[in-house]
Amino acid sequence: MSGINNIFCIGRNYAKHATELGNEIPDSPILFSKPTHALASASGHTLTFQKGKGEIHHELEIVLLIDRPVKKGDKLEDVVSKMALGVDLTLRDIQSDLKKKGQPWLRAKGFKNSAIITDFWKFSGVEQCENFYLVNNGRVIQEGNVQDMIFDFQSIIDECEDVFGLGTGDIIFTGTPEGVGPISDGDVFKMYWGEEEKGQFQVSIN
Ligand code: ZN
Repeated sequence: MSGINNIFCIGRNYAKHATELGNEIPDSPILFSKPTHALASASGHTLTFQKGKGEIHHELEIVLLIDRPVKKGDKLEDVVSKMALGVDLTLRDIQSDLKKKGQPWLRAKGFKNSAIITDFWKFSGVEQCENFYLVNNGRVIQEGNVQDMIFDFQSIIDECEDVFGLGTGDIIFTGTPEGVGPISDGDVFKMYWGEEEKGQFQVSIN
């Protein structure tokens, strides 16, 4: 987990996910970030969360690792050499409340263990991307494919570079497909890239 700098995230990047939460489909990427203390490894450990905060939703996402300083106009393949799968956890009830009050999402998105990532592997281009899956207690609950993204990887990188700057060690959660829902105490989640299991974690809420 060392060496990761900024954690950027894209909201509502799959149309069916936007509509499942009753949101409009955005015409420019919705951007937010998480503190690095949110990072946790999907290497089979139990991750602990506080009770009494309402529903905690799983969002399965492709995560890109930026491995050099990015300048305007840089191509995806030249600045991303590795990818991973991640779960962007969201305190959904708190997020709804914050949205109503017009307050920042940080409390709902940036809490400890809310940015769970597998080990990174070689990124071989969008053409080589497999379907990806989140399995809960043996059942597939989310399935995604880059073809369904509203903003593709290149657009996301262009936008992040333009707004925040992007550099070595930054990671980007690229948005969740539909099927988000609450996690429960004792759940075991596994992440798959095609047939291959890439990581897992167990949930403890207390
Ligand atoms: Zn997300």
